[in-house]
Amino acid sequence: VTARRVALALVHYPVLDREGGIITTAVTNLDVHDISRSARAYALEAVFIVHPVAAQRELVDRLRSHWTDGGGARRIPDRKDALSLVRIVSSYEAALAELAGGGQAPEVWTTAARAHGTVEAYGALRERLAAPGRPVLLLFGTGWGLPPELQAGADVRIAPIVGADPWNHLSVRAACAITLDRLLGAWS
Ligand code: SAM
Repeated sequence: VTARRVALALVHYPVLDREGGIITTAVTNLDVHDISRSARAYALEAVFIVHPVAAQRELVDRLRSHWTDGGGARRIPDRKDALSLVRIVSSYEAALAELAGGGQAPEVWTTAARAHGTVEAYGALRERLAAPGRPVLLLFGTGWGLPPELQAGADVRIAPIVGADPWNHLSVRAACAITLDRLLGAWS
């Protein structure tokens, strides 16, 4: 439940590689489908797929239109609701601008498997979303996660999801679903 506009961005650049360098990852179709369905289930306003390479953005556009206007939409209409949330942009700054839409500048909330700087707990953030405020753009990374400088500049660094032991290699799909449920799920 939220009193604020909430969207998410799946970032393919800048993201980290195994050595901590900055890379651009390729879009994974499964990410687009899975994350769009999670976003639809929690009534997010939009799913921004961020990619600097035009050919990759076109790939996502073809995927989206197959499921919103093409054969997929006819066969599985529910999928249409999810994929219709997809917005394709070249940078996360473009996602921020599109979400602002001439109104208030959104807050950037980052996610990560390891804390970079001060992090905020899900409970407090859940309360913040229940009260009126600026729009929120949740950033999820690919590869080995969002770069420290991107996290340092965020308004909020969401605390890492911690499982039962230090093994912590959730897929971005799983991390996204857990994050959305903790922030917006109707449970208590
Ligand atoms: N390489 C695997 C993959 O491709 O799914 C795992 C890395 S995954 C892309 C990294 C992203 O998933 C992070 O930028 C963050 O958005 C999310 N993530 C992964 N583990 C997380 C955790 N324990 N808590 C919060 N977010 C997590």
